[in-house]
Amino acid sequence: MVTAVVGASWGDEGKGKITDMLGEESDIIVRFQGGSNAGHTIVNDYGKFVLHILPSGVFHNHTTSVIGNGVALNIPDLFKEIQGIVEQGVPKPKIKVSDRAQIVMPYHILFDQYEEERLAGKSFGSTKSGIAPFYSDKYAKIGIQVSELFDEESLREKVEGICVKKNVLLEHLYHKPALSVDELMNTLREYREMVEPYVCDVSSYLFEARKQGKRILLEGQLGSLKDPDHGIYPMVTSSSTLAGYGAIGAGVPPYEIQRIVTVVKAYSSAVGAGEFVSEIFGEEADELRRRGGDGGEFGATTGRPRRMGWFDAVANRYGCRVQGSTEVVLTVLDVLGYLDEIPVCVGYEIDGRVTKDFPATRELKIAKPVYEVLPGWKEDIRGIKEYDKLPENCRRYIEFIEKEIGVPIKMVSNGPGRHEIIYR
Ligand code: GDP
Repeated sequence: MVTAVVGASWGDEGKGKITDMLGEESDIIVRFQGGSNAGHTIVNDYGKFVLHILPSGVFHNHTTSVIGNGVALNIPDLFKEIQGIVEQGVPKPKIKVSDRAQIVMPYHILFDQYEEERLAGKSFGSTKSGIAPFYSDKYAKIGIQVSELFDEESLREKVEGICVKKNVLLEHLYHKPALSVDELMNTLREYREMVEPYVCDVSSYLFEARKQGKRILLEGQLGSLKDPDHGIYPMVTSSSTLAGYGAIGAGVPPYEIQRIVTVVKAYSSAVGAGEFVSEIFGEEADELRRRGGDGGEFGATTGRPRRMGWFDAVANRYGCRVQGSTEVVLTVLDVLGYLDEIPVCVGYEIDGRVTKDFPATRELKIAKPVYEVLPGWKEDIRGIKEYDKLPENCRRYIEFIEKEIGVPIKMVSNGPGRHEIIYR
């Protein structure tokens, strides 16, 4: 069976912790999209880690970590990350990298930076990790697959073609130095050496694994609202963040993904620009940001302060629907223990009409939040292990959210640690 762990909203819902936790009962953990642009924070027996490209299950001795074909593979980042965790005392992980994964090139990162500079105030708030230029090239069919590293002659021919196109833009649009074929070939040779020990025909590996009854976990990055098709386009990421894409980005049949664990955050946060109807500002937002997550809501990759807001039932219900969620984990609930009252966004008012359906971007821009205010529980719920032991108003909050999103909340996370979880 294949399980997917995905996010219901803007990302940073706490998927890293849940993947790390579900990794205990998995054999293989696969990243199927995105790159090293977002970060997952994990706290476990080895310490505190921020992972960008390795799957969050990499801390288990019994699991194999896989970088699927759908990932934007930054080879130096992968290697730094492997070294980093080994230096922090984690046993050397078993890693496989798809021979069909494509490579984030240094020029993708440069183009990302140059484009942000060019757009200045109108930028997309990119993390400048080269993800958008990378996926553009992939679909323009000028990306470089890992498998291509092993045929120098045709690789050189391809790189020559790439340089012709890129150098026109570099010279005339960005006024920046041109790319050199020889330099790129040297870089690609270094990449080949780094990645060679890990290269694998991943979909075939997963096919055999499924025949042997192995448990496979797909780990998503970001969340539904950052999906390029179903999210808040154009303020989205460049690869699909949905569990359905796991079939493609890992190479498993769609009907095998039977368990879709969707991580829903007890309040809202977002990094970068884009529609965020239940956003809050000022002291109210600062306090939630300070208390949020594990030591404050600041981007794991960029350190940027996250934008904060109340729980948005409209966005999360939609987020779960497009994921096809079979169950929900509600995270960071412990953070809300300081509030007397907790507003929940239950509808959007658009042109004087209230809707519970999450609209496309044009209408999102003019949507105003409709709140219902729930009583707080004014108690620290960390350390509680049983659902019935939670304060009554806390249970009421959970059950209210469950009714709004229409998916069973099977787990409630009340702290960053691996075992700080309440099963229902
Ligand atoms: P991801 O990208 O979805 O994996 O999420 P992040 O790692 O960016 O953000 C989640 C943050 O919240 C991390 O710092 C986690 O350690 C922390 N976290 C996860 N679950 C909980 C929880 O239940 N309570 C608290 N207080 N922090 C949590």
